[in-house]
Amino acid sequence: MSKEYDLVVLGGGTGGYVAAIRAAQLGLQVAIVEKDQLGGTCLHRGCIPSKALLRSAEVYKQTKEAELFGVETSTPTINFSKVQERKTKIINTLHQGVQSLMKKGKIDVFNGFGRILGPSIFSPMPGTISIEYTDGKENTMIVPKNVLIATGSRPKSLPNLTIDGTNVMSSDDALSMHSLPQSIIIVGGGVIGIEWASMLADFGVNVTVVEYLKQILPTEDKAVAREVERLLKKKGVRFLKGAEVIPESIVKEDQVSVSVRRGDTTQSLTADRMLVSVGRKANIENIGIENTDITIEKGFVQTNEFYQTKESHIYAIGDVIGGMQLAHVASHEGIVAVEHIAGTNPLPINYDHIASCIYSNPEVASVGLTEEQAKEKGFAMKVGKFSFKAIGKALVYGESDGFVKIISDEKTDDLLGVHIVGPHATDMISEAGLAMVLDATPWEISQTVHPHPTLSEIMGEAALAVEGIQIHG
Ligand code: FAD
Repeated sequence: MSKEYDLVVLGGGTGGYVAAIRAAQLGLQVAIVEKDQLGGTCLHRGCIPSKALLRSAEVYKQTKEAELFGVETSTPTINFSKVQERKTKIINTLHQGVQSLMKKGKIDVFNGFGRILGPSIFSPMPGTISIEYTDGKENTMIVPKNVLIATGSRPKSLPNLTIDGTNVMSSDDALSMHSLPQSIIIVGGGVIGIEWASMLADFGVNVTVVEYLKQILPTEDKAVAREVERLLKKKGVRFLKGAEVIPESIVKEDQVSVSVRRGDTTQSLTADRMLVSVGRKANIENIGIENTDITIEKGFVQTNEFYQTKESHIYAIGDVIGGMQLAHVASHEGIVAVEHIAGTNPLPINYDHIASCIYSNPEVASVGLTEEQAKEKGFAMKVGKFSFKAIGKALVYGESDGFVKIISDEKTDDLLGVHIVGPHATDMISEAGLAMVLDATPWEISQTVHPHPTLSEIMGEAALAVEGIQIHG
């Protein structure tokens, strides 16, 4: 028996479920097909669980340092089962929230694997979707007017490097560890690798990061990456950069050993576990792409600026289309896609205005171009930099490492990029995002009177520093 919908969303992750809610608000008849759990990677294997663990690590570290604040405690210990319980409780609360949002929006949720079968019998309508269940229940057929592919991504590995889930883990496996290892080798110094390095070092784990490139966090401004590396080294993280692990050399006994090649030299590393964080690949297999004219490039679904694929009634958003693989990007893309379906003429997203955040300690947040990218694009620029050391609230917090760097176009004064490394960077970056959206100049940021004492004062000071007229530095 088939049922008709205006929109069927394949995948109920952050991108998919937000798109479904917006579509329902716009009066569309919507269904979501989710093979696992609503909330997807971000809620169950990404943003939320990792931030819950990072927060426990931060509390542990702060408790150890409580004496610096005049607070005397006995030596704190970690009960990792409780750390995991807290994480699970947060996930469950948010998961229930998403489920009730589906009910509120009268969105039908099908718990099965969705596949596009091809042109429907109601041609020129779009492809029929079949939903397959693991419990042997008969497939459901849905005939939607539009389809949104939001099937997300999964961890990838290196050629010949087998992730076994215990000794050699992906980030999915690491999130559900029952106990902390004493030592770990993290392969990949990108966002996920650095968040784990910071968290595990704060938990007291001996961490070595192996990064293929010469810079950790390769998409960040060089000065920011250097500062993160310096601060993580201070807490004991060891970095091997410009280095590659040799997967064939891995030996797994009680511990994991691997050879790492750097230039002409090879050295052997041994640790309790290895975490492979070398990127993510799109979930495009078995969803029926071959039954459509949809194009795939470098493993990702190709779309136009409104997220339409080559089949104008099939849209795709989120991690499955590549680009900035972030939860807020996926959900905003989902909103633009369904507004386009509903004909409300949404604005295409300007990705230069979207902030990306790293929740390590120190935190990192940035929007727009790095200094290196601005140089490459030929901009003559002005750069203002201000340190948290001169910000009263940062000293009050006991977290005065890091800085804000603002880059503007020398000719037009337009903001080109804002980079923060330091306390609450991820909460503060939205001011810079808003400034970019409103086309503000550093002068306008400096005219925004920032309350005292707050960490946000650093934004005003860094903006003044662009003209060399900062007050406290
Ligand atoms: P997903 O969230 O992956 O959702 C896709 C959904 O589709 C899944 O639920 C899957 O089960 C389902 N699905 C797949 N195929 C089918 C099918 N054929 N039929 C039915 N269902 C299907 N981003 C941030 O912005 N901030 C962070 O702090 C952050 N931290 C992260 C930490 C980690 C460790 C990881 C791994 C990622 C993190 N991310 C973070 C990235 C973020 O999780 C993703 O960008 C985001 O989840 C992408 O959303 P999505 O909807 O495109 O895909």
